[in-house]
Amino acid sequence: MEYHKHYQLKELNSFRTEAYAKIFCSPTNIDELRKCLEEYPSEKKLIIGGGCNIFFTKNFDGLVIKPEFFGLHEASSEEDEDVYIEAMASEDWDSFVAYTVERKFCGLENLSLIPGTVGAAPVQNIGAYGAEVKDCIREVVAMDIHTGEVISFANNECEFSYRNSIFKQRNKYIILSVVFHLKRKFSYRPKYVDLNRELESIEDPTIEEVREAVIRVRKRKLPSEKELPNAGSFFKNPYITTDQAKKLSKDYPDLPVYPYKDGWVKTSAAFLIDKAGYKGKRVGDIGTYPNQPLIIVNYGSSDGNKIVSFMEEIKSVVKQKFSIELEPEVRIC
Ligand SMILES: Cc1cc2nc3c(=O)[nH]c(=O)nc-3n(C[C@H](O)[C@H](O)[C@H](O)COP(=O)(O)OP(=O)(O)OC[C@H]3O[C@@H](n4cnc5c(N)ncnc54)[C@H](O)[C@@H]3O)c2cc1C
Repeated sequence: MEYHKHYQLKELNSFRTEAYAKIFCSPTNIDELRKCLEEYPSEKKLIIGGGCNIFFTKNFDGLVIKPEFFGLHEASSEEDEDVYIEAMASEDWDSFVAYTVERKFCGLENLSLIPGTVGAAPVQNIGAYGAEVKDCIREVVAMDIHTGEVISFANNECEFSYRNSIFKQRNKYIILSVVFHLKRKFSYRPKYVDLNRELESIEDPTIEEVREAVIRVRKRKLPSEKELPNAGSFFKNPYITTDQAKKLSKDYPDLPVYPYKDGWVKTSAAFLIDKAGYKGKRVGDIGTYPNQPLIIVNYGSSDGNKIVSFMEEIKSVVKQKFSIELEPEVRIC
């Protein structure tokens, strides 16, 4: 395995910001991974997959590891209602979803077309159209960065919550593979208004039809990171108290609110950004996407600090107008 010094990361993050890693390597198996951890015990470490949820504002003074672990292992017989598939971390997420849908293994279809790798999916518990990946994960196999120990985390040990997990909080595990628990029996459960609308002409949609509908809706609403650099939703949807939601609803009767827990609801960051006048707004090379204000796009800057300045501007106007603190979903390095 080669170690690259002063390695350009621009092509490895979907915002296309420029930064250099002090050291970079791509282990292709567990032994190589362990070796690079032993070789550089005191360097800071950063794991990168497809780079679709991360960008750089400065050089990374340490070791960037991009695992290249591929393969799928299925463990179930045709008679079983439950299907277990272990997917290695570097498998492309959407190709994996397509593979499961082709075989009519149900559970991941609403998560179609999310860019990135299988290994990153549990990190922020990816979600879309009323589904979250946590509901289809049986276990996550990961290596402790400090000890090299391989640990298997059962679903309930992953501390999954909205765009969060133990892997995001602790930042000390390298995910090697994910074991998914899927079902052979499919029935469409309407969960999300845009998707229901897309499927309303079909009486009993098949799993393939749901995947196709998700892809159509996403292509209409979201920019492809390959054509217009971005990292998807920039901010998390914030939680607010029910009292605050009631007060805001007086001025904004169409404020979206989703039940959360006693005394709290979740609202829409996109709505707040829109009402703050930032839908489709552009400052220099950075702006929000005209069809979806939650997405910050990079129209041509290689400097991640410009994205951070624009993010701060949005946070500040939303805070001033609604007294709500937005929190980025994207990792800023
Ligand atoms: C156009 C667009 C649309 C998007 N839509 C959605 C959406 O609908 N829903 C959603 O949830 N997200 C969405 N995202 C965000 C992104 O696709 C997901 O977060 C995805 O899981 C990122 O995968 P990645 O491999 O690119 O991760 P990276 O960006 O490389 O890494 C993300 C984080 O995971 C860590 N990580 C990556 N691989 C590993 C590993 N093997 N072990 C340990 N840690 C690791 C990194 O250190 C980093 O902290 C979107 C992004 C874009 C660009």
